[in-house]
Amino acid sequence: MTHDLYIGGAWVPGRETRPNINPSDTRDSVGDYAQASAAQAREAIAAAEAAFPAWSLSTPQQRFDVLDAVGTELLARKAELGDLLAREEGKTLPEAIGEVARAGAIFKFFAGEALRPGGELMPSVRPGVGVEITREPVGVVGLITPWNFPIAIPAWKIAPALAHGNAVVFKPADLVPGSAWALADILSRSGLPAGVFNLVMGRGSEVGAVLLEDPRVTAISFTGSVATGQRVAQACVARMAKFQLEMGGKNPFVVLDDADLDVAVNAAVNSGFFSTGQRCTASSRVIVTEGIHDRFVAAVAARIQTLKVDDARKPGTDIGPVVDEKQLAQDLEYIGIGQQEGARLVAGGQAIATNADGAPGFYLQPALFAETTPGMRINTEEIFGPVVSVLRAKNYEEALALANDTPFGLASGIATTSLKHATHFKRHAQAGMVMVNLPTAGVDYHVPFGGRKGSSYGPREQGRYAAEFFTTVKTAYTQA
Ligand code: NAD
Repeated sequence: MTHDLYIGGAWVPGRETRPNINPSDTRDSVGDYAQASAAQAREAIAAAEAAFPAWSLSTPQQRFDVLDAVGTELLARKAELGDLLAREEGKTLPEAIGEVARAGAIFKFFAGEALRPGGELMPSVRPGVGVEITREPVGVVGLITPWNFPIAIPAWKIAPALAHGNAVVFKPADLVPGSAWALADILSRSGLPAGVFNLVMGRGSEVGAVLLEDPRVTAISFTGSVATGQRVAQACVARMAKFQLEMGGKNPFVVLDDADLDVAVNAAVNSGFFSTGQRCTASSRVIVTEGIHDRFVAAVAARIQTLKVDDARKPGTDIGPVVDEKQLAQDLEYIGIGQQEGARLVAGGQAIATNADGAPGFYLQPALFAETTPGMRINTEEIFGPVVSVLRAKNYEEALALANDTPFGLASGIATTSLKHATHFKRHAQAGMVMVNLPTAGVDYHVPFGGRKGSSYGPREQGRYAAEFFTTVKTAYTQA
């Protein structure tokens, strides 16, 4: 079966198709997915532009009904869609089912948001004049997403965009179009008028570039790498389009002498290695104070050797494969760089050509480095794999300074039983999200998500804060 593009309320074949390969077993293709041409991307924009005026005036009830129906179907089909997600992306089945459930919950949340459009009514400073402050949709929005959360990130962009009355052109990551297509299929049956939602799969440099450059696209919401994010920013600034960027991270996790060792180890292993380390909120730098350092490193090394690296969909698998050959090569290159830089590879780091059943895939033993220093490339550059480095710190103050010593600022975590240090850290960690005695990865769906410094640009995503990006404020004055 070929999976077509969805443009103007119709399924249409692309210019060509591309197989969607299962990283757990590269002999298995999930299916063939259409690749849009640049002209088709422009057709999708035209369809969205035509559909926008009516949708922007749709009632809250209409939007609620659509988003609620999508949420209901996602939740009802979470096992099936979770299996598809695990098969195309390589996160384990429980993680993948959890991601689909999260996408369902996001649609339900934004169904509610459609019913709660806020506004302010206030007197003018001039007598007899009233002032109304309202929010209106921004127009046609281009949504560009990465491969590592194939359904949750699309959900947290599409749901608020539609809830706030915008028309959408959605370009998912080339590598994992299956979950995006399944979501588009659900949206196509949700009661949305034709053209309000459009799916254009294809290459970033071709289809994505059209979205960035077309003046009919009023706003771009992007999640992905720093390099692409910079391109998005330049293109949007050049034509004064609104944009928001969520990009890379090098998230720190601090472990203090007074931490509960089990809490610290569980949080570090979860944040560093689960989802094969391919989460933007993963902690890849663990900063540990002297008194607990050796016990902590030994415990993490012992734990990761017990983690089962295998087919993402097999019961009992802890760590699925890396997403593709290119990402695996990047992970291995950084493991080599770490060794050359003089870091001690405590455990893992070897590629595994086949899983326990002999299926070829992109498997990698989770890697732990110790005795690393802040300037090493493994501590400054985002690897985006199951590779964690431990840095030694003399005390809390030095640990905090090391945690903040990065151009990124997405998430930051600490394991401590000290209220004083936890409180200080929450205030002084230079990150958009701070976790105390919890993994840096794993966040709620109803509250803002995003970072600062080099990780993010523009308003936060998710929760009520999503309105900042997907609406524009109007101030109206009335003389009675
Ligand atoms: P990527 O930048 O390679 O691709 C992201 C998207 O941009 C894809 O859909 C791609 O096709 C598109 N694209 C590529 N070139 C383009 C161009 N010239 N014009 C327009 N679009 C273009 O990123 P990726 O490899 O898919 O994802 C991994 C990255 O995403 C990591 O850096 C990770 O940290 C980041 N990420 C960040 C967050 C966050 O919220 N901060 C969440 C998940 C992933």
